[in-house]
Amino acid sequence: MKYKAALIQLFMSVSRPLTTCEIKDHTNTWRHGMTSNELSNLLAKDQAFAQSGTVMSAGFGGRYPVALWVLNQSEVENMKISPLKTCNDCGVSIQATGRPTCGKCYLSKKQKERRKNGKA
Ligand SMILES: [Zn+2]
Repeated sequence: MKYKAALIQLFMSVSRPLTTCEIKDHTNTWRHGMTSNELSNLLAKDQAFAQSGTVMSAGFGGRYPVALWVLNQSEVENMKISPLKTCNDCGVSIQATGRPTCGKCYLSKKQKERRKNGKA
């Protein structure tokens, strides 16, 4: 379920179909990533995702078809998942919390403020 929500956020933030490879690349950036099998299973079995054809991709083995995925809007509408936002300071993707900075930038800002206040 955690993976599912994160994948839905990914789709929402890019607003276009994604290939299995693109999605896998993204999950590789997570602290606890998914294996290719976990990803394929989730995409294929979960009603929130729908395959919308294939595209040809070039790789070491030549050109081969890769599945293209989209969100099943009617399934995700009721889930109240917000799209990912981008940190104003460093540009990383963050969970939409209403705060425009990521945790790291927020902390370093706070520390700078504290240092300034300490000297004053
Ligand atoms: Zn940041």
